[in-house]
Amino acid sequence: MKQAPETFSRRLIEWQKRHGRHDLPWQRTRDPYRIWLSEIMLQQTQVATVIPYYQRFLERFPDVAALAAAPLAAVIEAWAGLGYYARARNLHRCAQRVMEDHGGRFPATPEELAGLPGIGPSTAAAIAAFAWGRRAAILDGNVKRVFCRHFGIEGVPGTAAADRALWALADSLLPEDDMEAYTQGLMDLGATVCTRPRPACGLCPLQATCVAYRQGRQAELPARRPRPALPERETTLVLISDGQHILFERRPPAGIWGGLLVPPEGEPAAVLARLGLHAEDCLELPPLLHVFTHFRLHIRPVLCRVAPDCHTAAERNLEWLAIGLAPAAGVPTPVKKLVRLVASAGD
Ligand code: SF4
Repeated sequence: MKQAPETFSRRLIEWQKRHGRHDLPWQRTRDPYRIWLSEIMLQQTQVATVIPYYQRFLERFPDVAALAAAPLAAVIEAWAGLGYYARARNLHRCAQRVMEDHGGRFPATPEELAGLPGIGPSTAAAIAAFAWGRRAAILDGNVKRVFCRHFGIEGVPGTAAADRALWALADSLLPEDDMEAYTQGLMDLGATVCTRPRPACGLCPLQATCVAYRQGRQAELPARRPRPALPERETTLVLISDGQHILFERRPPAGIWGGLLVPPEGEPAAVLARLGLHAEDCLELPPLLHVFTHFRLHIRPVLCRVAPDCHTAAERNLEWLAIGLAPAAGVPTPVKKLVRLVASAGD
């Protein structure tokens, strides 16, 4: 069914004003730093998870200058647990670019914002709409789902042809004003009403013109690419402990868990030899599976107990952390589980 773009956007704007979200911690501000931070955290992560991270992050880095001046390790530490760590590294680089290239002020156009690290066209449009009321289209996964269902678009989102059509549609639907309510309305509808499983069509302001609703095809749209099975990988992590502490190595910035503290990886005998340590005994702990976006990692944890007064080879990227404090440091989620295993093995 053809309809004027204004009809779509007006209904969404009216709905957002009456039923949308208005009290999220990053709303009611025009500060591009806060808006940018929330938009990056919300990529791939749900609102409820983001809120406490966002608040702690702002206490620690209250403005872009503070973030740019902080060491990367401190930023990674504040991010630890949110996943997709490339976002944290890009966040830090972006803050530095804003300081160096833009005099500490975020540029106000979507085009310039999209030239900064970690900011794609959709995020740039959201920041520009919320901070300056700019007229620019967002198109994240949630918005693609709403468009595919409402307009009956058959292509697979993420493919070049479907995304071209979706961007053209997103541009054509932009209202003349009320950009903040429209942009927030798309986000709210995708997150709270037109959800992937079980969309609440009875509450939807777009129901009267929705193709998927009329044809009962909500479960079929958007079309999905068949998923190839994820490759399997294996690793051994050596948890070296003196009973009170665990030895961690900071990973190089690139690669999985880049910049995070992780127990040394490799065969226990080789790891101990490399670090100049002698273990009193080594014990296999229950294996752990961690699923990344692109592969499944089977972790074989081995606990090696060393004497309390032992000394490691002098490598700058090594850190002994107290067992009780390690989960709060910059360690990835599966490593937190391993630390708990070590704590219980010592009971
Ligand atoms: S009517 Fe249902 S399927 Fe259509 S846009 Fe609204 S929630 Fe989504």
